[in-house]
Amino acid sequence: MFINGKRADSRDGKTIDVLNSATQEFLDTVPAATSEDVQEAIDASQTGKRVWASTPVHERSRILMACADEIDRRREELAVSLSTEMGKIIREARGEIRVCAQIFRGFAEMANHYYGRTLTDYQIGTEKDIIFTRREPLGVVACISPFNYPVELCTQKTASALAAGNAVIIKPATENPLTIMKIVEICHSCGIPGPVLQLVTGRGAVVGDLLVGSKDIDAVSFTGSTEVGQHIAKVGAETLKRVFLELGGNDPYIVFEDCDLEQAAADAVQGRVQNAGQTCCAPKRFIVQSTVKKEFLRIMLQKLEKLRQGSPLDEKTDLGSVISPKAAQEIQQQVERTVSQGAELVCGGKAYDLSYFQPTILDHVTLDMDIATTMEVFGPVLPIIEFDDEEQAVAIANATIYGLQGGVMTRNMNRAIRVASKLACGGVVINSSGNYRHLDQPFGGWKMSGLGREGVSVTLDEMTQEKSYILKNILAG
Ligand code: NAP
Repeated sequence: MFINGKRADSRDGKTIDVLNSATQEFLDTVPAATSEDVQEAIDASQTGKRVWASTPVHERSRILMACADEIDRRREELAVSLSTEMGKIIREARGEIRVCAQIFRGFAEMANHYYGRTLTDYQIGTEKDIIFTRREPLGVVACISPFNYPVELCTQKTASALAAGNAVIIKPATENPLTIMKIVEICHSCGIPGPVLQLVTGRGAVVGDLLVGSKDIDAVSFTGSTEVGQHIAKVGAETLKRVFLELGGNDPYIVFEDCDLEQAAADAVQGRVQNAGQTCCAPKRFIVQSTVKKEFLRIMLQKLEKLRQGSPLDEKTDLGSVISPKAAQEIQQQVERTVSQGAELVCGGKAYDLSYFQPTILDHVTLDMDIATTMEVFGPVLPIIEFDDEEQAVAIANATIYGLQGGVMTRNMNRAIRVASKLACGGVVINSSGNYRHLDQPFGGWKMSGLGREGVSVTLDEMTQEKSYILKNILAG
C-alpha cells in the first residue's frame, strides 16, 4: 500500500494473493489493510488536502502532465501487467494505458481554465456589491474502482480529484490492483506528495466501508455494481458526504430492418466481446426487428465463429479470459437460468479452461426473463429479443431497471433521433452499439445505473464546491 508517502504492509501482516486471471498462476500479494491502516491513511490525507489545495493549479497541472508522459513512456510494461492480472487482450490493454495518460492530460488542461462566476446586480439594493465565486476543492476523495477497466476507471476519478486540488485515497479492486499501484508509484515519482495520493488494498467490505463511513472523507467516487453502489449511498448518507456512482447496465441495442445488417452484426459482436463482455456500457440485449432477425443471427454466428480465443498476451487473440473461474461459472449459471426460463441456446454457453467463457447466443428471449430486465451478464453473451414496430422496440429497451447507454441501427435518421429521445438512459449511439465512451463525454447512467456524470468536461464540477465571495459595498463612492 502507499500510506503517507511510504510503502506499507498491513499491521497484522495479512495479505491477499493476486493471480493471473487466465491461468490462475500466482503473481503477487497485496496487504489486507486493517482498520488502523485505513485510519492512518485518512489521518495523513488531512495533511495532504491542505498541502495540495495550497499548491497552485499551474503546478498541479504540470505534475499531472509529467505523470501522463511517464505513463506513456512505460505503456508496454503497464499494458503487459494489466493484461496479465485482468485477462484483457494485450491490444485492449495498450489502449487502456493510452487512455489513462490522456485522462491525466485532459484534467490537467481543464483545471488550468476552470473558472468561477461573477454575478450581476439585478437585485435591487446590491448595486454597490460585487459577488464572485470560486470552485474550491472538496478535501479528501475516496476513489473506489472496479476490476473491469481497473486503470482507466480509477484514473477518471483520481486525475480529476487531484486536478481539482483534492487529496485522494484509492481503493482498487482486490482482484487486480497491481497496475494501478505502478501508476501511483509513477505519480509519486513525478511529484505528487505521498499524503496527497495514497492507496489502500483489502476487501471492499472492510476498507470500503471504513472510507465511506469516515467523517474525514469528503466525497466518494465509486464505479462498480449497483448493489455495492446502493450500500455506499446508504453508508455515505450518515455523514452527508458527496457520493458519485457509476453502476451497472443492461444496455439495449436496437436493430431495425432497414439498417446495414452486416455492420449491425459486426458492431454487436465487437461491442459485446470487447473486454470479454465485461464492459458496463456493452450492448447486453439485442432487440431486433422480426423481419431480419434470422439473417442478423446468421451473420452474428458467423462472426462469433471467427473469433480467436486464447492467451490474452497473444497478439492474435480477439477474446481473452474473464476475471476468474468463479466469474466464468456465474456467467454459465446465468445462461442456464435463461434457458430454463425458455430461451434457446444457439451456441456456446459453457465456461472452460478455468476463466474462459464461450461466446454465446441466446435466441427467443422475452420480457419475462431476468436477462431482459434485471440481470446484468458480465460475459460474451448475446441475448436476442424480437420486436415488430418502433413503439414495441422502445418499450422493450426501457423495460429494465438500468439506464446506462444504448445503440440504434437504422438508415432513417428521423427515426434514429426519435427513438434515441425516448430511451431512458444516459447516452445513445446512433449507427453502432452503445459501447462507446469519449473521454470528454458526460458519461453516466439513469435509473439504477448511477448518480452523477464522469468525463473530462464535467468531473471538475463534481470534484469541487462553489464558494461565493461577497464584497459588500465595494463600489460605494
Ligand atoms: P463491485 O463488486 O461492486 O466492486 C467495485 C469496487 O467496490 C471494488 O473495489 C470492491 O472491492 C469495492 N467494494 C466492494 N464492497 C464494498 C463496500 N461494501 N464498500 C465499498 N466498496 C466496496 O463491482 P465489480 O464486480 O468490480 O465491477 C463490475 C460492475 O461494475 C458491473 O456491474 C459493471 O456494470 C459496473 N461498472 C460500471 C461502470 C460505469 O461507468 N457505469 C463502469 C465499469 C463497471 P473488492 O474488489 O475488494 O470487492
